[in-house]
Amino acid sequence: MGVAFKSVVRTIRRPVLRALRSVVDHRLADFRMPPDIGGDLLLTFDDGPHPEYTPRLLDMLDAAGARAIFFVIGERAVRHPALLRDCLDRGHVIGNHTFTHLNDGIGGHYTTERVIDEITRCAELVAAETGFRTTLFRPPRGEMNLKTLRGVRATGHSMMLWSVEGGEWGIRSDWAAQDIGDYILRTVRRRDIFLMHDDNEKTLHVLPRLIRTAQERGYDLASAVARMAA
Ligand SMILES: [Zn+2]
Repeated sequence: MGVAFKSVVRTIRRPVLRALRSVVDHRLADFRMPPDIGGDLLLTFDDGPHPEYTPRLLDMLDAAGARAIFFVIGERAVRHPALLRDCLDRGHVIGNHTFTHLNDGIGGHYTTERVIDEITRCAELVAAETGFRTTLFRPPRGEMNLKTLRGVRATGHSMMLWSVEGGEWGIRSDWAAQDIGDYILRTVRRRDIFLMHDDNEKTLHVLPRLIRTAQERGYDLASAVARMAA
């Protein structure tokens, strides 16, 4: 496929996807901030905890008085249980991102039973280490499909996706942190759910800029998660 054709497809697809999302938003999954919580921007991190980056991100959030949701992978959390407790002690919320990240089932090549097992194993690990019960689930790669929707229902979770991301994990993985930061600051709007990755070094550069700009705009980065953590 030629580059021009691809960009035309992308241009057409974006508004269609946005319209589809607004139809299902808060019914099947949250793409933007749930209407019943306050605050102006929801910061979320996937794929941690990371032994080096997660503590630094926690310090940045603390320094700014901001709170976040950490969607952890069970098999990473089991190696760094103290980081789970640290997240909760500092007022953040832990979300469920499966036990293995379903990386051998890319494209939805897994069963509903597998999804239920993955969510349950991650939830049980977090509960055993911290006493905290996860209620939010984010499917790896944002795969919202019948199997992941049945999985969240069976395990008593609700699905949270996102409305803005830097793309440092995929479509913009070859961009410099500076360019990803510029892109984000142009894109982010009030009530967005913002996706970052705490296992990606670029997040360390992007987060302080995002926080600074959001707070200059008067955005409240704490109330939504404080309400969920209560
Ligand atoms: Zn992930």
